[in-house]
Amino acid sequence: MNNTVLSPGNHPDSQKLRAEHAIIGAGIIGLATAFELVEAGVSPQEIVVVDPQPISGATFVAGGMLAPVAEVQYRQEPLYPLMVASGEMFPHLLARLGKKTTAPTGHRSESTLVVGADRADGVHIRELLALQQRHGMDAQALTLRQARRLEQGLSPQLAAAVEIPGDHQINPRMFSACLLDYL
Ligand SMILES: Cc1cc2nc3c(=O)[nH]c(=O)nc-3n(C[C@H](O)[C@H](O)[C@H](O)COP(=O)(O)OP(=O)(O)OC[C@H]3O[C@@H](n4cnc5c(N)ncnc54)[C@H](O)[C@@H]3O)c2cc1C
Repeated sequence: MNNTVLSPGNHPDSQKLRAEHAIIGAGIIGLATAFELVEAGVSPQEIVVVDPQPISGATFVAGGMLAPVAEVQYRQEPLYPLMVASGEMFPHLLARLGKKTTAPTGHRSESTLVVGADRADGVHIRELLALQQRHGMDAQALTLRQARRLEQGLSPQLAAAVEIPGDHQINPRMFSACLLDYL
């Protein structure tokens, strides 16, 4: 696939730009949408992704946390299953993308650690842990010794630490560059 990400203003044939599927915006969502269309059997020739500055928006500055458990907020219960389901889709997406390109995505599958710096933080993350566990999410309290074994740079003065094994990360710029490269 090539020539799918276009800057209409600069493209010599911009007046003739036609496609069955037009995606406006080549951030992580537009690029992943194009990828999924191709995966679903749509011909690349029928897709055009239009963006004067691909990977320049939120995708460029995002942290890339795939952290549905760590990012749980109180009183958003209907969202929790959607967040978890969304996180669970990433390994499959990464595996499929890995078959198309060897470029790095910045994917890291180590646990996420949530730490509380002072007593108030400690109380907060323990209460949040109770909420996460009530909703069947995989998270557990660590002793500081256990946390510092996983992440040696942590201060011994921390008030609390929670490990979330299923919360991972990608590098959004690298991941999107992979998609762009493939497209
Ligand atoms: C500081 C920060 C940190 C974040 N951290 C995380 C995180 O850790 N984990 C997480 O899951 N999410 C995170 N997010 C959210 C995540 O970045 C966004 O949900 C995601 O990048 C949205 O992708 P997008 O493709 O919809 O938008 P964008 O990346 O903003 O892409 C939109 C694209 O549309 C193009 N565009 C705009 N107007 C037009 C037009 N008229 N015609 C053509 N193209 C156009 C722009 O040039 C841009 O490239 C973070 C966001 C921010 C701001």
